[in-house]
Amino acid sequence: MRIRPDLDTLPVYVPGKTFPGAIKLASNEVTDPPLPGVAAAIAEAAATANRYPDNGMVELTDELAKSLGVTPAEIQIGCGSVILCQNLITVTAVPGDEVLFGWRSFEMYPVATRVVGATPVQIPLTGDAVHDLAAMAGAITDRTRLIFVCNPNNPTGTVVEAQALRDFLAAVPSDIVVALDEAYFEYMRLTGPFAYDALELRREFPNLVVLRTFSKAYGLAGLRVGYAVGDPEVITALNKVHVPFTVSSVAQSAAVASLHAQDELLARTDAVVAERERVTARLRELGYRVPDSQANFVWLMLGDDSMPFATECAESGVIVRPFAGDGVRVTVTHPAENDAFLTFAEKYAGARS
Ligand code: PMP
Repeated sequence: MRIRPDLDTLPVYVPGKTFPGAIKLASNEVTDPPLPGVAAAIAEAAATANRYPDNGMVELTDELAKSLGVTPAEIQIGCGSVILCQNLITVTAVPGDEVLFGWRSFEMYPVATRVVGATPVQIPLTGDAVHDLAAMAGAITDRTRLIFVCNPNNPTGTVVEAQALRDFLAAVPSDIVVALDEAYFEYMRLTGPFAYDALELRREFPNLVVLRTFSKAYGLAGLRVGYAVGDPEVITALNKVHVPFTVSSVAQSAAVASLHAQDELLARTDAVVAERERVTARLRELGYRVPDSQANFVWLMLGDDSMPFATECAESGVIVRPFAGDGVRVTVTHPAENDAFLTFAEKYAGARS
């Protein structure tokens, strides 16, 4: 059949394996059920599931606009922020164009780039697993159409310094869209040189598009809702390529209800942040190299040990996410689950020393 030949080398997505009773720390999900009020909102929306969802996603857009202090024209909602990554590439790049991002980072950037036939340009992270923004700025060419900056970066959890981000944005030509992927925004507790506000930066740099999601801290990974905040020119383009009705009525209602549970969200993210600091400190005590994380996961820089570590960890009942030859990403959740992981990490470190 006449399938595009350039897709031949594109790998099929392989979901992580799990087994009954496993502690799953591989996908940066929360262990808690959805926030208070969400289950009732889902039940109510499900009762009218015979109807198509609101394709304009008006209520959720308005609620988000209000809570973020932007206009509805600056927001596009999508079926997970991953589709907004894909759609940003679709509206900016054609075959032969370049999409620039740090590497290692979110695995869908290169895949989504290749889906539209554009060329991924991957700039290695620094030795400390942080985006090398100066090198990224230096890699811009006249074919660059979109740049992703994942902050905190998945899978390393690291963030860039605020001044470095500003300098970078100032160096990027103002007609190239920069997507600041803040999927883990709610877990950031930025202070000192790291403190920045993406929505404020947008005033200075209208080419900046901020991506966030309800999948992580809000605990709605299974319902698929993400959003982009950007200049109305970009948002209009995203709206044009939005596949109608892909954000279900149940998902929209759940997201609205989640926005109304900010106190509980903060309590839950504070608990994860405290655990993140505890897990990081313990891993370092055990001799692991772990950069500071601002997300709900930590990154163990294990190099060639990454695959054996993850395999043995799974045998102990805890599923983590290895990246061959590079590192292992471990979600931080409740103390008991984190302890199960730390128990393995201690045993592994002991066996190697
Ligand atoms: N961006 C980053 C950095 C991510 O880690 C993820 C999820 N792994 C996404 C975007 C996509 O999230 P979702 O589609 O669930 O909103």
